[in-house]
Amino acid sequence: MRLLLASSEVHPYSKSGGLADMVAALAKALGRAGHEVGLVTPLYRGIRERFPQLQRLDYFLEVPLGERRVQCEVWTLQPSEGLTVYFIDRPEFYHRGGLYNEGGADYPDNAHRFIFLSKCVVHLARYLPLKPELVHVHDWQVGLVPLMILHQRWHEGWKDAPRTCLTIHNLAYQGNFSRAEYSLANLPLDYFNPDGAEFWGQLSCLKAAISYADLLTTVSPRYAREITTEEYGCGLDPALRARQESLVGILNGVDYDEWNTTDNPSLPFAYSVDRMAGKAANKAALQKELGLPVNPNAPLFGSITRLADQKGVDIQIGALEEMLAANLQFALLGSGSAEFERAYADLARRYPNKVAITLGYNQGLSHRIEAGSDFFLMPSRFEPCGLNQMYSQRYGTLPIVRVTGGLDDTVTDLTEDDSEANGIKFHEYSVRALAKAIRKALVLYETPALRTKMQQNAMRLDFSWKRTGESYLKAYREGLNSKR
Ligand code: ADP
Repeated sequence: MRLLLASSEVHPYSKSGGLADMVAALAKALGRAGHEVGLVTPLYRGIRERFPQLQRLDYFLEVPLGERRVQCEVWTLQPSEGLTVYFIDRPEFYHRGGLYNEGGADYPDNAHRFIFLSKCVVHLARYLPLKPELVHVHDWQVGLVPLMILHQRWHEGWKDAPRTCLTIHNLAYQGNFSRAEYSLANLPLDYFNPDGAEFWGQLSCLKAAISYADLLTTVSPRYAREITTEEYGCGLDPALRARQESLVGILNGVDYDEWNTTDNPSLPFAYSVDRMAGKAANKAALQKELGLPVNPNAPLFGSITRLADQKGVDIQIGALEEMLAANLQFALLGSGSAEFERAYADLARRYPNKVAITLGYNQGLSHRIEAGSDFFLMPSRFEPCGLNQMYSQRYGTLPIVRVTGGLDDTVTDLTEDDSEANGIKFHEYSVRALAKAIRKALVLYETPALRTKMQQNAMRLDFSWKRTGESYLKAYREGLNSKR
């Protein structure tokens, strides 16, 4: 199949969260499976310096953006078999300190930046020799692509225009802008209505994609059900219910080439399910690195997260306050809301021998926390898929998760199946329920036979991309046959 993917972030070039990991791994898996795959993403500041192999494409790209005409250069890279990445180079839009925001505030021209990106995707889909059969867009930043393609099919002579697929990685981020910014799309107002791109008087890039893509997917089966309900629908549940027959939940895979404990340059010690000594050594090394007492008998709880409401930061801080009198250690790597950063920094000041907080983004340390911890906390309010719990499982670190979205789909609790259990689950979104789950973990820590069995169950789970890639191909084939 000839496929063009588009995403505002792709690991290892740019990343703010799981979106970057997922798109990179999907593109790689599809290319390796023998498909011809293109992937469009912005050329952010620093990418060319970090990847000097990038080559400038001899290609003239200019599109209208409201009343302006805007040009860009296109750079390419073939990082793996069957895959070409197309980087959109427009320094005015993408050479910034952040991807979407800085100092806690969104860039005021995000509509320009990402409507421009969407137009470049459509242009490349139409004029590259690749001639994709299907264009697969990810999240709101490229959400206008399906509508623009449909419009060109209907009104601008693009007879063999490709089918389109949208993957929703997080419904809470919708790309809502003022009605005036709709004019940047250079589309007629016919599409600006509540059955199309309009959301309560505003332009919603995500809603436009929900309304006009041939196929909708999201990143876990449970989240696919949740987002059609009022509780989790973020106001878009009616639009999603209207498209329910085209919506499928496909669990993200894990790129085990990157996330493994046997051949990993970020880990001081290798280990595997049959040779666990390295895990204890990683724990000691992590305690040392973070300035915690090196103590094999102190259960170590890890957390790597965006510090955002979604991630359950408030109940995590509350539960830690309650539990820190016990013999345990806590290591956090995260960044985000200034208020949460302050609250964690305060916790670390009060419990210097038990709490280590690292604010910022650090890929290497994220591997070492996964490997060195005994338990991993993910008390999310909602979680479309979540990758860290799957990374934890492969690293023999038992995840403690709230029953929501992909967390429910990937973790099995003792109460569900005592022979297959591979983590601890709790239901209620409250300090009390999380503190109780942490207490269960402390008991488990003192029950080595059961803990070892659960670690083995977790490490043997296989969320590899082969299955996920096949599920996407099956969905693509259905999308190609859609009757729109
Ligand atoms: P989300 O996409 O909602 O942030 P996921 O669990 O799906 O959550 O993915 C998060 C990804 O981002 C993981 O690969 C995780 O390791 C990484 N990550 C999050 N915060 C940091 C950080 N501060 N430093 C390094 N990696 C981080």
